[in-house]
Amino acid sequence: MQDYINFAEKNGVVLLNSGACQFCGANTRRGIHECLEIFNLGFQTIDLSNSANTIYRFLIVDAHTLQHPEVHGRWNNHFHLSRLHLIFKYNLKWTYKLSPKLSDCLNQYKINKQDEYLTPPGVLKRGNITTTVVLEVSNEEEKCKEMISKWAHEVYEKWHQHHHTVDAVALKLLKKML
Ligand SMILES: [Zn+2]
Repeated sequence: MQDYINFAEKNGVVLLNSGACQFCGANTRRGIHECLEIFNLGFQTIDLSNSANTIYRFLIVDAHTLQHPEVHGRWNNHFHLSRLHLIFKYNLKWTYKLSPKLSDCLNQYKINKQDEYLTPPGVLKRGNITTTVVLEVSNEEEKCKEMISKWAHEVYEKWHQHHHTVDAVALKLLKKML
């Protein structure tokens, strides 16, 4: 069984197999399953192996995860929101090397906050841009990149009530980098 199905079960959420994505509202026919397929395939006009484009990979993963917290572990909310916070608030140029460092900082932070849970915005209130919106413009590289940036930004703003919380995690990483 796939991870996301397990997580949904654990979170007591019944996955719908048809219609729009029940979490983000993407205009799908097979709900979350199709939403995840679009996400997993990526948006292929962008060459994500080119290091100048890797930022889009991070933005896609963060935006999608934070739109679908019901199919992830709770730790993920902290991680992906902290990363967007570092990218948007502190203009940090994200690289693959920074992800394990952020994980370390988050693990340290969580030692005394095991039960801290970032309550997500309600379902369907996590931004108007979704996988299917990005897919619509995905045959044009520049438009696709622009839409992904807007997507991540919009989702980040929807989680605004937790920006203060993840700032503490972000500052730990920034301090480590000095
Ligand atoms: Zn979705």
